[in-house]
Order: sequence, then C-alpha cells, then structure tokens
Amino acid sequence: MSPVLKVDNLQVSFQQDGRQQVAVRGVSFEVGRGETVALVGESGSGKSVTALSTVGLLPGAATVSGSVIYEGEELAKAPEKRLRQVRGNDISFIFQEPMTSLNPLHTLEKQITESLALHQGLTGAAARARVLELLERVGIRDPESRLGAYPHQLSGGQRQRVMIAMALANGPDLLIADEPTTALDVTIEAQILELLAELKREETMSLLFITHDLGVVRRIADRVCVMKDGEIVETGPTAEIFRAPQHPYTRKLLAAAT
Ligand code: ADP
Ligand code: MG
Repeated sequence: MSPVLKVDNLQVSFQQDGRQQVAVRGVSFEVGRGETVALVGESGSGKSVTALSTVGLLPGAATVSGSVIYEGEELAKAPEKRLRQVRGNDISFIFQEPMTSLNPLHTLEKQITESLALHQGLTGAAARARVLELLERVGIRDPESRLGAYPHQLSGGQRQRVMIAMALANGPDLLIADEPTTALDVTIEAQILELLAELKREETMSLLFITHDLGVVRRIADRVCVMKDGEIVETGPTAEIFRAPQHPYTRKLLAAAT
C-alpha cells in the first residue's frame, strides 16, 4: 500500500548573518497508513523544520528543495491555497505549548466552534454538539461544565487535550504532533501518550510523533527515525532501535532516555 506521506531528499536552509545555514539536509522518510513514525533528536536537530515543511508552514525566508508527497500529491510546490486546504482537511498539527496556540481571551466553546465554523461550516447547536463530542473524545470529563472555561483555567494536560480535540475536529488522515508532551509532568505525559495511541487505533489516522526523548516513543511508535544535525542518521522498527541501536548517536539518546 502506498504511504500516506513520503518525504524525499528534503533540504531546508535559512539565510542567516549573510550566509545560508542548512537546517535539514537530504531527509527522506515515509509514514505508512495507520502507522506511527517517531522523529527523534536533540533540540536544533531539524525536527520541527522537517514537520513544518510538509504542509508549507515554514517562514518565507526558508529555501526548500526535495519532495513531499501526501496521498500521491506533490505538496512541496503546491500553491498556498491548496496547502491551506490540506491543513484544514487532511493533516492536523499539535505543538508543544498549547498556551501559544489557544487564544487566552476566548472560552473553549468559542475557540473550538470557530475552528469548526472555519473548516467544516458547522454553527449553532450542531457546532456545540460536536464540541461536546470532541471534548468527551479526548477525555475531558463533564465537558458541558468546561465550555465556558478560559485556557488559563485548565491544567497543562487539559489544555493539550483541548488542542488534540481541535486537531481531531476535521477528521485528519495524518496527525503531526511536535513535542506534544514536552511541557507536561511525567504522569500527565503518560496519559496524553495513552490518549494519542488510543485515538490512533480508533480513528484510523497516521501519526508523525516528534520528540527529543527517545524513551517516550517506546510504546507509541511503530518506527523511529533518529535525527542529528539536520540528517536522519538511523531508522528502524522501534523494537530494533531499542534492542540494537546501530548509530553511536542513537545509543547516546537511548542512554539519556526516560
Ligand atoms: P528541533 O525542532 O529539532 O529542535 P528545528 O527544526 O526547530 O529543531 O531547528 C533546526 C535548525 O534550524 C536550528 O539550527 C534552528 O536554529 C534553525 N531554524 C529553525 N527555524 C528557523 C528560522 N525560522 N530561521 C532561521 N533558522 C531557523
Ligand atoms: Mg522543535
């Protein structure tokens, strides 16, 4: 079966201090249907740049080459209008710190319904019902009582659950989660990982899971790609990576893993 996402020879550089700095060099990987692929590497290794490249979210100053094929369609050179459609309907993102993605001045009901109106044309009672369903889906208990809450009134874990609910709103085929648990306590992190694993099983999504902590992916990922200095230095099934890491850098990450 053809992969959902196929990234081939991706190269991204930024103009900085009058020089071209390469952030991602020759990165190639695939995410199969229903598969969870983890992109793991230390801070600055190029994980976020790789993820953002797939849906045209890099700043205009970036120079990008290579190919990004989503469901057979080349997105690397797609016009912004098409990329917006893909982001609205097919590929969803969640980021490390939900506080920066949630509007602090809007209640949960308002932010989720706005996103539903924008992407799905749902309004009024239908939108409200869908919001409750989504919040329930991500494990927010008694969601009706939380509709009027502002982001700062929620715990970090609850905020991340809300972000996941918003990411699920358009029924994405691919969810890209960029360090979604990095800002959370260990116990909350485990709950969010469990939620993602469960959603992935039930919603038949594919998942690209990004983290600096190799330990986190042990249970959730089918395959791991290890990134260092903008390159993928090792890739393999998760069990293999943990049992017999080949690259010295992978061994180093493993030693540092939680
Ligand atoms: P990671 O997500 O693995 O921590 P990033 O993908 O964010 O790393 O960054 C990879 C490299 O690209 C870093 O050296 C970073 O400084 C650089 N970089 C990322 N975004 C930009 C940008 N908008 N402008 C200039 N350099 C950037
Ligand atoms: Mg990052």
